[in-house]
Amino acid sequence: MEGTLNVENIDLGDNIIQHKTEDKYIKLDEEIYMNLKNYISNKVYPPGYDKAQKRRLRQKAISFLIVKDFLYHKSKGAHSKLGRVIFDKDEQKSIIKSLHDGIIGGCHFGQTATIAKVTDRYWWPCIAASVQDFIRTCASCQIVNLVNKPGSSSLHPIKVTHIFH
Ligand SMILES: [Zn+2]
Repeated sequence: MEGTLNVENIDLGDNIIQHKTEDKYIKLDEEIYMNLKNYISNKVYPPGYDKAQKRRLRQKAISFLIVKDFLYHKSKGAHSKLGRVIFDKDEQKSIIKSLHDGIIGGCHFGQTATIAKVTDRYWWPCIAASVQDFIRTCASCQIVNLVNKPGSSSLHPIKVTHIFH
């Protein structure tokens, strides 16, 4: 079961790599999220919102909640997670770095493990893509990949799927 899940994750990673853009970090429009926060807390709409904008805000608000004045995102599905919304790109980067490196540092967890750690606690749009991008550009991981023959594990998902045939 675990093996199958890993293959799916790797495939997803490859798809995203193909669509790689220069910068995976998205600076969130704080105004949108402040409006959201205000709506969730006080059930008030921003001034001048028309019917359609109000409806969009209500629909968006379903996926968010506020805990101790912080905005959290609820993911859908059986493995729903509650992640604190991180607006700032630098903060997103430092979160990924600390969870990828491990508590003591120098662990350099793989893509799947790092994505799980980050999404367990935090949320921003395209969060998985930014983790993948971070790991791909992590100097220490690149050195390890060179030493261990590139592609021997995570870069060749097709090899892995052969096990299931
Ligand atoms: Zn690394």
